[in-house]
Amino acid sequence: MTSLKLEFVCKVLQQHKLLNEQQIQTVLQQESDIRAQLKQQAGVDVNTLTAIDVLCAMHLVSAADGQTVLSEELIMRALAAHWKLPFLRIELNKVESCKLASKISAPFARKHAIFPVSMSKNMLFIAVVNPLNVEMLDTLRNVTKMEIRPVISLKSDIFHAIEECYKIQEAEKASQKHFEGFEASVSAASAASKDETAPAVPGGMTSVNADDANDANIVTAVNLMLQYACEQRASEIHLEPRQFQSQIRFRIDGMLYDVKQIPQGIHNNMLMRFKALGGMNISEKRKAQDGRTHFSFHGRDMTLRISTMPMTFGEKVMIRLLDPILLLRHVETLGFSDEQYAQYRALISRANGILLIAGPTGSGKTTTLYSTLDALAERGINVTTLEDPVELPYDRFNQIALQPGVGFDFEQAVKHLVRQSPDVIMIGEVRDKQTADNAIQTALLGHLVFSTLHTYDAASALTRLVKMGAEPFFVESAVIAVIAQQLLRRVCQHCAQPYRPSEQDMAMLQLSSEQTGLLRKGKGCMKCRGTGYLGQTGVFEILEMTDELRSLVHDNIGVSMIRETAAHQGVKLLRDMAMAKMLEGQTTVEEVLRMTAGIATPHSARFKTKITLSDEVERSDDPAELEAVSF
Ligand SMILES: [Zn+2]
Repeated sequence: MTSLKLEFVCKVLQQHKLLNEQQIQTVLQQESDIRAQLKQQAGVDVNTLTAIDVLCAMHLVSAADGQTVLSEELIMRALAAHWKLPFLRIELNKVESCKLASKISAPFARKHAIFPVSMSKNMLFIAVVNPLNVEMLDTLRNVTKMEIRPVISLKSDIFHAIEECYKIQEAEKASQKHFEGFEASVSAASAASKDETAPAVPGGMTSVNADDANDANIVTAVNLMLQYACEQRASEIHLEPRQFQSQIRFRIDGMLYDVKQIPQGIHNNMLMRFKALGGMNISEKRKAQDGRTHFSFHGRDMTLRISTMPMTFGEKVMIRLLDPILLLRHVETLGFSDEQYAQYRALISRANGILLIAGPTGSGKTTTLYSTLDALAERGINVTTLEDPVELPYDRFNQIALQPGVGFDFEQAVKHLVRQSPDVIMIGEVRDKQTADNAIQTALLGHLVFSTLHTYDAASALTRLVKMGAEPFFVESAVIAVIAQQLLRRVCQHCAQPYRPSEQDMAMLQLSSEQTGLLRKGKGCMKCRGTGYLGQTGVFEILEMTDELRSLVHDNIGVSMIRETAAHQGVKLLRDMAMAKMLEGQTTVEEVLRMTAGIATPHSARFKTKITLSDEVERSDDPAELEAVSF
């Protein structure tokens, strides 16, 4: 294999007036020392060490101006000009490059530091560092049966592309294999079952017995489905019985995607398996049940919360996949603005009172609560949680599972708890007058109480407490602040592109064209499965109680007045924060509109894998329960 000689590279740089004779002499003298040093550095691949690496390690400055550092890019551009070949920085946000990667095996690409960048008819453009490696170019020509056109690029770009694309490809392949394995197990189980095509009977009567749950195919199918769901970053799996088939859907970044339809018989078998896993009563088909189990995914202990619910055509199963890594995060990474973060830190340092986290289902309230409590527990504070059921078992908290069925309800628990002198108490959710009253009493006894409430914004949470029957006087004296939150899908960093919204969208968000400079949108890539979104970020509205707000609550003044007063006092509302994130390019116009409309709208981007976005995007909230929000 021919490799670029240092002398040759130096000569080219001299022709471009980047090095002078004296510098070249020094470089050549020091070459072996630098190579030896580089070989000892951790993470340096000895086999791919080039003359360019040696030059870069010397931090030389241009002979022309005596100050410009000879970077890898400057050197490669000079070489490209010398060879009369195009120079290219590899932009990995192109789906094509990852698709093209399959044209060349990963070891071959690594060995020669090459990466395919584009294709046109019978021509394959390959990013290379050394176009003089004729042998490599010949091999490529023979293997791909295409004309090979070298383009010069940076070695660092090429290796970054190799790692990114082949890693994604390998993960995608493994994931696809799991999905195919799941499909194969379902087919095998269907073949074994006789009455798979029989339509379901309303009421969900089935003839499945407990033994079927242990059917090896079903066990495999369930395992592979869980594996696949984790790989796709799903937070929920839904198995929904319909009249003739059952639909499996995954919730990913807050949106539901269709995964596969399965026969009713298989649905029932999988249901049995989940009931068995969750320690639930297998023969009980007419009541809703809850269970829990664990699943290990790449060494991570995922908690699965399983719930079943009788529906017209059988029992629906919903599995929540709780990843401790996602549920316990650093508070500063949740999505607060710097200003809000400082304010929030001050609020959670208070000794007593109630802090309410408000938001609809799936708005990230649990993550905010758990992450906050984790931060407090770290400071040596005694944290106790009262939950029904316990969301995620975690040994840094004292967790109490309420069992209203056997008389161990909230009131009972609190009575005993206050004797244990907890500093901070978390109450899963304020649902009714009783929990509201108890939370208030506990706070007034000198504890810091955290809880959640099901409303879209902060102002509504205050009026909701009063509507539940809590005394306005107690509400205004106990509540320190309401933190409302929502989740927005984050633009995929790997395929983000600048973008200009439509006139209509701009008018709806009252945007001027000067404001839209930084807007970005994902084009869709393998990392985001073609959706253009990867992950979610929280947006927050912190409504800290002031005398003015207290008097509004005291006088039972309506929600819009509270909201208006808060905005007047400088409280940044959810919409403001969402707009700020959009203008920074973190999220899209569509996401902001979706959030402000308070309803989920189907998105045109579809999964490039077997998963497609459900036509019917559901919201788990009962709209009647939520206060209307006008922005
Ligand atoms: Zn992407």
